[in-house]
Amino acid sequence: MAHPIATATPAAPAITPISVKAILPWAVFFGILLMALIYFVGAEQGATSLISGEDVHEWVHDGRHLLGFPCH
Ligand SMILES: [Zn+2]
Repeated sequence: MAHPIATATPAAPAITPISVKAILPWAVFFGILLMALIYFVGAEQGATSLISGEDVHEWVHDGRHLLGFPCH
């Protein structure tokens, strides 16, 4: 007597490709955020200064050294 073999597998969820047109605004948005972060870590209150004082420098000082930006 043959035993029935369960061959049914659960259906894989359909994968919908994401178009470049849908990703582009998010890529631009996060690219701008990343560039602002790199600016504040690498240059603000060092090479340039948009904000007076030294608070930004103190907050990002270790990151600046870690990433190799010139500091002092
Ligand atoms: Zn330093």
